[in-house]
Amino acid sequence: MPGFELFGDKERAEVQQVLDTGVLMRYGFDGMRNGYWKAKELEEALAARMQTKYAQVLSSGTAALTVALASAGVGAGDEVIMPTFTFVASFESILAIGAIPILVDVDDTLTLDPKAVETAITKRTKVIMPVHMCGSMADLRALHVICQKHGLLLLEDACQAIGGTFEGKPLGSYGDLGCFSFDYVKTVTCGEGGAMITNNETYYKNADHYSDHGHDHSGTDRGAEHHPFLGYNYRISELNAAVGLAQIGRLDEFLDLQKKHYSILRNALETVEGISFRRVPKGGEESYAFLNFFLPDETKARAAHKALGTAGVDGCFYWYDNNWHYYRKWEHLIGKKSLGKLPKEVYEQLPDYRKANFSKSDHWMGRTISCLIKLGWNEEAVHQRATTMVDTLRPIV
Ligand SMILES: *Cc1c(COP(=O)(O)O)cnc(C)c1O
Repeated sequence: MPGFELFGDKERAEVQQVLDTGVLMRYGFDGMRNGYWKAKELEEALAARMQTKYAQVLSSGTAALTVALASAGVGAGDEVIMPTFTFVASFESILAIGAIPILVDVDDTLTLDPKAVETAITKRTKVIMPVHMCGSMADLRALHVICQKHGLLLLEDACQAIGGTFEGKPLGSYGDLGCFSFDYVKTVTCGEGGAMITNNETYYKNADHYSDHGHDHSGTDRGAEHHPFLGYNYRISELNAAVGLAQIGRLDEFLDLQKKHYSILRNALETVEGISFRRVPKGGEESYAFLNFFLPDETKARAAHKALGTAGVDGCFYWYDNNWHYYRKWEHLIGKKSLGKLPKEVYEQLPDYRKANFSKSDHWMGRTISCLIKLGWNEEAVHQRATTMVDTLRPIV
Protein backbone atom coordinates (compact mmCIF):
# COMPACT_ATOMS: atom_id res chain seq x y z
CA MET A 1 0.00 0.00 0.00
CA PRO A 2 2.41 2.80 0.87
CA GLY A 3 3.01 5.04 -2.13
CA PHE A 4 6.10 6.39 -0.39
CA GLU A 5 7.92 3.19 -1.33
CA LEU A 6 8.03 4.38 -4.92
CA PHE A 7 8.68 8.08 -4.25
CA GLY A 8 10.87 9.20 -7.11
CA ASP A 9 11.69 11.61 -9.91
CA LYS A 10 8.10 12.53 -10.78
CA GLU A 11 7.36 13.56 -7.20
CA ARG A 12 10.64 15.49 -6.96
CA ALA A 13 9.93 17.34 -10.23
CA GLU A 14 6.47 18.45 -9.10
CA VAL A 15 7.80 19.64 -5.74
CA GLN A 16 10.69 21.44 -7.42
CA GLN A 17 8.28 23.55 -9.49
CA VAL A 18 6.67 24.75 -6.26
CA LEU A 19 10.02 25.40 -4.64
CA ASP A 20 11.12 27.41 -7.67
CA THR A 21 8.22 29.84 -7.32
CA GLY A 22 8.18 29.77 -3.53
CA VAL A 23 4.37 29.91 -3.49
CA LEU A 24 3.57 27.27 -0.90
CA MET A 25 -0.08 28.24 -0.49
CA ARG A 26 -2.90 26.89 -2.61
CA TYR A 27 -4.87 30.14 -2.89
CA GLY A 28 -3.89 33.57 -4.18
CA PHE A 29 -0.44 34.96 -5.12
CA ASP A 30 -1.49 34.62 -8.76
CA GLY A 31 1.30 36.78 -10.14
CA MET A 32 4.11 34.95 -8.35
CA ARG A 33 3.12 31.36 -8.98
CA ASN A 34 4.17 30.99 -12.58
CA GLY A 35 0.93 29.22 -13.46
CA TYR A 36 1.36 26.42 -10.92
CA TRP A 37 -1.77 25.45 -8.99
CA LYS A 38 -0.87 22.02 -7.62
CA ALA A 39 -3.83 21.58 -5.26
CA LYS A 40 -6.24 22.60 -8.01
CA GLU A 41 -4.58 20.25 -10.51
CA LEU A 42 -4.72 17.43 -7.98
CA GLU A 43 -8.44 18.09 -7.52
CA GLU A 44 -9.01 17.94 -11.29
CA ALA A 45 -6.97 14.75 -11.63
CA LEU A 46 -8.74 13.10 -8.71
CA ALA A 47 -12.24 14.03 -9.88
CA ALA A 48 -11.42 12.69 -13.35
CA ARG A 49 -9.96 9.44 -12.00
CA MET A 50 -12.88 8.92 -9.59
CA GLN A 51 -15.51 9.93 -12.16
CA THR A 52 -17.10 12.55 -9.93
CA LYS A 53 -17.93 16.16 -10.72
CA TYR A 54 -15.99 17.57 -7.78
CA ALA A 55 -13.02 16.94 -5.53
CA GLN A 56 -11.81 19.05 -2.62
CA VAL A 57 -8.27 18.31 -1.50
CA LEU A 58 -7.67 18.85 2.22
CA SER A 59 -4.99 18.68 4.89
CA SER A 60 -5.69 15.07 5.93
CA GLY A 61 -8.13 12.19 5.61
CA THR A 62 -9.49 13.06 9.04
CA ALA A 63 -10.05 16.63 7.82
CA ALA A 64 -11.76 15.23 4.71
CA LEU A 65 -14.24 13.26 6.84
CA THR A 66 -14.91 16.28 9.05
CA VAL A 67 -15.37 18.59 6.07
CA ALA A 68 -17.58 16.06 4.28
CA LEU A 69 -19.91 15.82 7.29
CA ALA A 70 -19.96 19.59 7.79
CA SER A 71 -20.51 20.26 4.09
CA ALA A 72 -23.66 18.13 4.14
CA GLY A 73 -25.02 20.05 7.12
CA VAL A 74 -24.40 17.41 9.77
CA GLY A 75 -23.98 18.97 13.22
CA ALA A 76 -24.57 18.83 16.95
CA GLY A 77 -26.53 15.83 18.16
CA ASP A 78 -26.89 14.18 14.75
CA GLU A 79 -26.06 10.49 14.77
CA VAL A 80 -23.55 8.97 12.38
CA ILE A 81 -23.39 5.20 12.03
CA MET A 82 -19.83 3.85 11.80
CA PRO A 83 -18.21 0.43 12.15
CA THR A 84 -16.45 -1.06 15.19
CA PHE A 85 -13.46 -1.83 12.96
CA THR A 86 -11.96 1.32 11.46
CA PHE A 87 -9.35 3.93 12.27
CA VAL A 88 -9.92 6.32 15.21
CA ALA A 89 -10.31 9.13 12.67
CA SER A 90 -13.90 7.97 12.07
CA PHE A 91 -15.19 8.99 15.48
CA GLU A 92 -12.80 11.94 15.74
CA SER A 93 -14.32 13.53 12.65
CA ILE A 94 -17.86 12.91 13.91
CA LEU A 95 -17.10 14.31 17.38
CA ALA A 96 -15.30 17.31 15.85
CA ILE A 97 -18.62 18.70 14.62
CA GLY A 98 -20.53 17.76 17.77
CA ALA A 99 -22.23 14.76 16.18
CA ILE A 100 -22.55 11.34 17.81
CA PRO A 101 -20.63 8.25 16.63
CA ILE A 102 -22.92 5.22 16.74
CA LEU A 103 -20.79 2.09 16.56
CA VAL A 104 -22.25 -0.85 14.66
CA ASP A 105 -21.07 -4.43 14.11
CA VAL A 106 -19.01 -5.62 11.17
CA ASP A 107 -19.58 -8.94 9.42
CA ASP A 108 -17.37 -11.22 7.33
CA THR A 109 -16.76 -8.35 4.89
CA LEU A 110 -14.93 -6.68 7.84
CA THR A 111 -17.10 -3.63 7.16
CA LEU A 112 -20.57 -2.50 8.26
CA ASP A 113 -23.14 -5.26 8.52
CA PRO A 114 -26.23 -3.85 6.73
CA LYS A 115 -28.62 -5.73 9.04
CA ALA A 116 -26.95 -4.26 12.13
CA VAL A 117 -27.04 -0.83 10.51
CA GLU A 118 -30.77 -0.97 10.02
CA THR A 119 -31.45 -1.78 13.67
CA ALA A 120 -29.22 1.11 14.81
CA ILE A 121 -31.20 3.78 12.95
CA THR A 122 -33.08 6.29 15.12
CA LYS A 123 -34.87 9.55 14.35
CA ARG A 124 -31.56 11.35 14.98
CA THR A 125 -29.58 9.32 12.41
CA LYS A 126 -28.27 11.45 9.55
CA VAL A 127 -25.42 9.50 7.97
CA ILE A 128 -24.22 5.98 7.33
CA MET A 129 -20.45 5.95 7.13
CA PRO A 130 -19.05 2.65 5.84
CA VAL A 131 -15.28 2.32 6.05
CA HIS A 132 -13.69 0.28 3.28
CA MET A 133 -11.00 -1.17 5.51
CA CYS A 134 -7.88 -2.87 4.22
CA GLY A 135 -8.57 -2.68 0.51
CA SER A 136 -12.13 -4.01 0.32
CA MET A 137 -15.58 -2.51 0.57
CA ALA A 138 -18.86 -2.57 2.41
CA ASP A 139 -21.97 -3.84 0.64
CA LEU A 140 -22.74 -0.44 -0.84
CA ARG A 141 -25.85 -1.61 -2.65
CA ALA A 142 -27.48 -2.79 0.58
CA LEU A 143 -26.42 0.38 2.41
CA HIS A 144 -27.69 2.56 -0.42
CA VAL A 145 -31.10 0.90 -0.23
CA ILE A 146 -31.20 1.57 3.54
CA CYS A 147 -30.21 5.21 2.99
CA GLN A 148 -32.95 5.68 0.39
CA LYS A 149 -35.53 4.11 2.65
CA HIS A 150 -34.69 6.27 5.67
CA GLY A 151 -33.55 9.47 3.94
CA LEU A 152 -29.93 9.20 5.09
CA LEU A 153 -26.61 10.23 3.57
CA LEU A 154 -24.07 7.63 2.48
CA LEU A 155 -20.50 8.77 3.21
CA GLU A 156 -17.79 6.34 2.11
CA ASP A 157 -14.46 6.32 3.91
CA ALA A 158 -12.27 4.95 1.12
CA CYS A 159 -8.99 5.98 2.80
CA GLN A 160 -7.63 2.40 2.73
CA ALA A 161 -9.16 1.29 -0.55
CA ILE A 162 -8.37 3.89 -3.20
CA GLY A 163 -8.67 2.31 -6.64
CA GLY A 164 -11.14 -0.40 -5.63
CA THR A 165 -14.53 -0.43 -7.34
CA PHE A 166 -18.14 -1.37 -6.67
CA GLU A 167 -20.50 -2.12 -9.54
CA GLY A 168 -17.89 -0.56 -11.81
CA LYS A 169 -17.73 2.71 -9.88
CA PRO A 170 -14.58 3.84 -8.06
CA LEU A 171 -14.92 3.45 -4.29
CA GLY A 172 -15.77 6.83 -2.83
CA SER A 173 -17.96 7.77 -5.79
CA TYR A 174 -20.87 5.44 -5.05
CA GLY A 175 -22.28 7.32 -2.05
CA ASP A 176 -23.26 10.97 -1.65
CA LEU A 177 -19.75 11.76 -0.45
CA GLY A 178 -16.45 9.88 -0.45
CA CYS A 179 -13.19 10.49 1.40
CA PHE A 180 -9.56 9.59 0.85
CA SER A 181 -6.44 9.97 2.95
CA PHE A 182 -3.09 10.78 1.39
CA ASP A 183 -1.11 10.43 4.61
CA TYR A 184 2.35 8.96 4.51
CA VAL A 185 1.32 5.28 4.64
CA LYS A 186 -1.57 5.30 2.16
CA THR A 187 -1.49 3.98 -1.43
CA VAL A 188 -1.33 7.54 -2.78
CA THR A 189 0.56 9.89 -0.50
CA CYS A 190 1.03 13.65 -0.20
CA GLY A 191 3.07 13.25 2.99
CA GLU A 192 -0.04 14.55 4.72
CA GLY A 193 -3.29 15.17 2.88
CA GLY A 194 -6.75 13.95 2.06
CA ALA A 195 -9.71 14.62 -0.20
CA MET A 196 -13.47 14.62 -0.41
CA ILE A 197 -15.29 13.76 -3.65
CA THR A 198 -18.93 14.31 -4.55
CA ASN A 199 -21.33 14.97 -7.41
CA ASN A 200 -23.32 17.41 -5.28
CA GLU A 201 -22.48 21.02 -6.13
CA THR A 202 -23.75 22.42 -2.82
CA TYR A 203 -21.66 20.02 -0.73
CA TYR A 204 -18.65 20.82 -2.86
CA LYS A 205 -19.06 24.59 -2.51
CA ASN A 206 -19.65 24.23 1.21
CA ALA A 207 -16.48 22.13 1.50
CA ASP A 208 -14.48 24.67 -0.49
CA HIS A 209 -15.56 27.51 1.82
CA TYR A 210 -15.62 25.59 5.09
CA SER A 211 -12.08 24.28 4.71
CA ASP A 212 -10.74 27.83 4.28
CA HIS A 213 -12.30 29.79 7.17
CA GLY A 214 -15.65 30.16 5.40
CA HIS A 215 -14.08 32.35 2.66
CA ASP A 216 -16.34 32.03 -0.35
CA HIS A 217 -13.46 32.46 -2.84
CA SER A 218 -15.44 34.99 -4.86
CA GLY A 219 -13.60 37.34 -7.15
CA THR A 220 -9.83 37.63 -7.28
CA ASP A 221 -9.12 39.72 -4.21
CA ARG A 222 -8.86 37.41 -1.21
CA GLY A 223 -9.44 40.23 1.25
CA ALA A 224 -12.83 41.09 -0.27
CA GLU A 225 -14.37 37.64 0.03
CA HIS A 226 -17.62 36.98 1.82
CA HIS A 227 -18.22 34.53 4.67
CA PRO A 228 -21.58 32.83 4.25
CA PHE A 229 -20.93 30.63 7.30
CA LEU A 230 -18.28 29.80 9.91
CA GLY A 231 -15.39 27.68 8.76
CA TYR A 232 -12.01 26.40 9.78
CA ASN A 233 -8.59 25.79 8.24
CA TYR A 234 -8.30 22.36 6.65
CA ARG A 235 -6.19 23.51 3.68
CA ILE A 236 -3.43 21.47 2.09
CA SER A 237 -0.15 23.16 1.15
CA GLU A 238 1.11 23.32 -2.42
CA LEU A 239 4.16 21.24 -1.48
CA ASN A 240 2.02 18.37 -0.24
CA ALA A 241 -0.35 18.67 -3.17
CA ALA A 242 2.57 18.54 -5.61
CA VAL A 243 3.62 15.15 -4.23
CA GLY A 244 0.04 13.92 -4.54
CA LEU A 245 -0.25 15.16 -8.10
CA ALA A 246 2.68 12.98 -9.13
CA GLN A 247 1.34 10.05 -7.12
CA ILE A 248 -2.25 10.13 -8.43
CA GLY A 249 -0.82 9.85 -11.94
CA ARG A 250 0.81 6.61 -10.82
CA LEU A 251 -2.26 5.10 -9.16
CA ASP A 252 -2.83 2.51 -11.87
CA GLU A 253 0.83 1.47 -11.74
CA PHE A 254 0.48 1.06 -7.95
CA LEU A 255 -2.78 -0.90 -8.28
CA ASP A 256 -1.24 -3.30 -10.80
CA LEU A 257 1.60 -4.02 -8.40
CA GLN A 258 -0.76 -4.50 -5.45
CA LYS A 259 -2.89 -6.95 -7.42
CA LYS A 260 0.13 -8.87 -8.68
CA HIS A 261 1.66 -9.26 -5.23
CA TYR A 262 -1.70 -10.00 -3.60
CA SER A 263 -2.49 -12.73 -6.14
CA ILE A 264 0.77 -14.57 -5.52
CA LEU A 265 0.15 -14.64 -1.76
CA ARG A 266 -3.54 -15.45 -2.09
CA ASN A 267 -2.96 -18.36 -4.47
CA ALA A 268 -0.45 -19.81 -2.04
CA LEU A 269 -2.72 -19.45 1.02
CA GLU A 270 -5.68 -20.98 -0.87
CA THR A 271 -3.81 -24.28 -0.59
CA VAL A 272 -3.84 -24.16 3.23
CA GLU A 273 -6.88 -26.00 4.49
CA GLY A 274 -8.58 -24.19 7.39
CA ILE A 275 -7.82 -20.70 6.13
CA SER A 276 -10.69 -18.75 4.62
CA PHE A 277 -10.86 -15.29 3.14
CA ARG A 278 -12.74 -12.12 3.83
CA ARG A 279 -15.97 -11.87 1.82
CA VAL A 280 -15.99 -9.27 -0.91
CA PRO A 281 -19.57 -8.11 -1.56
CA LYS A 282 -21.05 -9.02 -4.95
CA GLY A 283 -20.14 -6.36 -7.50
CA GLY A 284 -16.97 -5.32 -5.71
CA GLU A 285 -13.35 -5.41 -6.75
CA GLU A 286 -10.73 -4.88 -4.07
CA SER A 287 -7.84 -2.45 -4.33
CA TYR A 288 -5.64 -5.31 -3.09
CA ALA A 289 -3.94 -3.10 -0.49
CA PHE A 290 -4.09 -5.94 2.06
CA LEU A 291 -4.64 -9.68 2.03
CA ASN A 292 -7.22 -10.46 4.73
CA PHE A 293 -7.91 -13.97 5.95
CA PHE A 294 -9.58 -15.88 8.77
CA LEU A 295 -8.16 -18.55 11.03
CA PRO A 296 -10.63 -21.08 12.47
CA ASP A 297 -10.67 -19.38 15.91
CA GLU A 298 -9.12 -16.68 18.07
CA THR A 299 -6.48 -18.92 19.65
CA LYS A 300 -5.22 -20.04 16.26
CA ALA A 301 -5.29 -16.49 14.93
CA ARG A 302 -3.13 -15.26 17.80
CA ALA A 303 -0.73 -18.17 17.32
CA ALA A 304 -0.59 -17.55 13.57
CA HIS A 305 0.08 -13.85 14.00
CA LYS A 306 2.90 -14.56 16.44
CA ALA A 307 4.42 -17.27 14.25
CA LEU A 308 4.35 -15.05 11.15
CA GLY A 309 6.25 -12.39 13.08
CA THR A 310 8.81 -14.91 14.30
CA ALA A 311 9.25 -16.21 10.75
CA GLY A 312 10.09 -12.68 9.60
CA VAL A 313 6.88 -12.07 7.65
CA ASP A 314 6.48 -8.37 8.44
CA GLY A 315 3.41 -6.19 7.92
CA CYS A 316 0.80 -8.66 9.24
CA PHE A 317 -1.77 -7.25 11.67
CA TYR A 318 -4.00 -8.80 14.29
CA TRP A 319 -6.49 -5.94 14.62
CA TYR A 320 -8.42 -7.49 17.48
CA ASP A 321 -5.73 -6.37 19.93
CA ASN A 322 -4.92 -3.11 18.17
CA ASN A 323 -5.86 0.15 19.87
CA TRP A 324 -5.91 2.29 16.73
CA HIS A 325 -8.34 0.21 14.74
CA TYR A 326 -10.73 -1.78 16.91
CA TYR A 327 -13.29 -0.51 19.44
CA ARG A 328 -12.18 -2.81 22.30
CA LYS A 329 -9.16 -0.64 23.06
CA TRP A 330 -10.51 2.82 22.31
CA GLU A 331 -10.26 3.78 25.98
CA HIS A 332 -10.53 7.51 25.22
CA LEU A 333 -13.85 7.11 23.41
CA ILE A 334 -15.23 4.54 25.82
CA GLY A 335 -14.22 6.65 28.83
CA LYS A 336 -15.38 9.95 27.20
CA LYS A 337 -11.92 11.37 27.94
CA SER A 338 -11.45 14.84 26.46
CA LEU A 339 -9.19 17.71 27.43
CA GLY A 340 -11.92 20.25 27.97
CA LYS A 341 -15.63 19.67 28.48
CA LEU A 342 -17.38 17.74 25.73
CA PRO A 343 -20.31 19.47 24.02
CA LYS A 344 -23.53 18.82 25.96
CA GLU A 345 -25.10 16.76 23.15
CA VAL A 346 -22.07 14.51 22.91
CA TYR A 347 -21.80 14.01 26.64
CA GLU A 348 -25.46 13.16 27.00
CA GLN A 349 -26.09 11.20 23.82
CA LEU A 350 -22.87 9.21 23.38
CA PRO A 351 -23.79 5.59 24.10
CA ASP A 352 -22.12 3.91 27.06
CA TYR A 353 -19.72 1.73 25.10
CA ARG A 354 -18.52 -0.02 28.28
CA LYS A 355 -21.82 -1.89 28.15
CA ALA A 356 -21.95 -2.49 24.40
CA ASN A 357 -22.25 -5.98 22.99
CA PHE A 358 -20.27 -6.33 19.78
CA SER A 359 -19.87 -10.09 19.94
CA LYS A 360 -20.52 -10.37 16.18
CA SER A 361 -17.63 -8.06 15.45
CA ASP A 362 -15.49 -9.91 17.99
CA HIS A 363 -16.34 -13.19 16.27
CA TRP A 364 -14.88 -12.02 12.95
CA MET A 365 -12.12 -9.73 14.17
CA GLY A 366 -10.82 -12.28 16.66
CA ARG A 367 -10.05 -14.57 13.74
CA THR A 368 -8.74 -12.03 11.25
CA ILE A 369 -5.20 -11.46 10.09
CA SER A 370 -4.42 -8.76 7.52
CA CYS A 371 -1.15 -8.60 5.66
CA LEU A 372 -0.07 -5.36 4.06
CA ILE A 373 0.72 -5.63 0.35
CA LYS A 374 3.79 -3.56 -0.42
CA LEU A 375 4.62 -1.90 -3.72
CA GLY A 376 8.38 -2.13 -3.43
CA TRP A 377 8.65 -5.93 -3.30
CA ASN A 378 10.23 -7.75 -6.19
CA GLU A 379 8.46 -10.82 -7.53
CA GLU A 380 11.00 -13.30 -6.23
CA ALA A 381 10.67 -11.89 -2.72
CA VAL A 382 6.87 -12.24 -2.89
CA HIS A 383 7.16 -15.91 -3.88
CA GLN A 384 9.58 -16.45 -1.01
CA ARG A 385 7.15 -14.71 1.35
CA ALA A 386 4.29 -16.91 0.08
CA THR A 387 6.29 -20.08 0.80
CA THR A 388 7.22 -18.88 4.28
CA MET A 389 3.60 -17.99 5.05
CA VAL A 390 2.30 -21.37 3.94
CA ASP A 391 4.98 -23.23 5.88
CA THR A 392 4.24 -21.14 8.98
CA LEU A 393 0.45 -21.36 8.85
CA ARG A 394 -0.05 -25.00 7.85
CA PRO A 395 0.98 -26.50 11.21
CA ILE A 396 -1.22 -24.00 13.10
CA VAL A 397 -4.58 -24.38 11.30
C1 LIG B 1 -5.72 6.90 7.33
C2 LIG B 1 -7.17 6.81 7.59
C3 LIG B 1 -7.95 7.93 7.92
C4 LIG B 1 -7.39 9.27 8.27
O1 LIG B 1 -6.50 9.79 7.42
P1 LIG B 1 -5.34 10.80 7.88
O2 LIG B 1 -4.92 11.38 6.58
O3 LIG B 1 -4.26 10.01 8.52
O4 LIG B 1 -5.96 11.80 8.78
C5 LIG B 1 -9.31 7.77 8.02
N1 LIG B 1 -9.89 6.58 7.84
C6 LIG B 1 -9.18 5.49 7.55
C7 LIG B 1 -9.88 4.20 7.33
C8 LIG B 1 -7.79 5.56 7.44
O5 LIG B 1 -7.08 4.45 7.19
